[in-house]
Amino acid sequence: MNFESHTRTIYENPTAHDAGGFTGEETGVSPYAGSPILNIITEKQLKTCVHCGLCLSYCPTYKATGLEADSPRGRVFQIRLLASGELQPDDPDLNKHLNLCLGCRACETACPSGVPYGALLEAARAQLPPHNEQEKILRKATLGFLFMHPNAMRAAGLGLRVYQKSGLRKLVQFSHILNILPGGLAAKEAMLPDAQGGIVKPGLPKVTPPKPANARRSVSANSQEK
Ligand code: SF4
Ligand code: SF4
Repeated sequence: MNFESHTRTIYENPTAHDAGGFTGEETGVSPYAGSPILNIITEKQLKTCVHCGLCLSYCPTYKATGLEADSPRGRVFQIRLLASGELQPDDPDLNKHLNLCLGCRACETACPSGVPYGALLEAARAQLPPHNEQEKILRKATLGFLFMHPNAMRAAGLGLRVYQKSGLRKLVQFSHILNILPGGLAAKEAMLPDAQGGIVKPGLPKVTPPKPANARRSVSANSQEK
């Protein structure tokens, strides 16, 4: 499918959109029934866009390429095609246009219809296959294992605290060893969140000091539990 010509045709003739764009809508049978996308968002959210185009001028990728398929409206349209099964998750054009989205959600704040663009994008991206073998392994390790097992998360947290609080991190950064290893490890390491608490006992501080000083004090969830 040529997205650019297809999406342009649809938007130049909006009345053809629902009848011609989405198989089944004219029969009263939802074309999205059974789509895994509906495990994350509702069908109503999927159909909120009224194709007005008011978001277009806020989208940096549309401004850069001038392609309807790289606009919020065009992406919402592609997400609906994905949900209806008219596009397959491994479609190269679909992957290109959805992956080019910055996820900045400038379109969401500009949209008068309240299209939950961020939620739509996340739901759609969850269906796309990994870009490469490295991402495939990473997805399995994190989404498929780490986040599913609390003990594994605790072990990972302990590893993070040992790494950051024992001085090992400073040593690694000083040696620049990550720069010579493959996979952009230095950049990834720099994105690690700061571990809270001590090495053995993690946790939030009991009291988070107010800012400014005369503001009401906020108490962490940890201290409330005690
Ligand atoms: S996403 Fe919102 S602003 Fe953009 S075309 Fe759809 S309804 Fe209009
Ligand atoms: S999230 Fe940003 S880049 Fe993506 S469609 Fe919306 S405005 Fe464009």
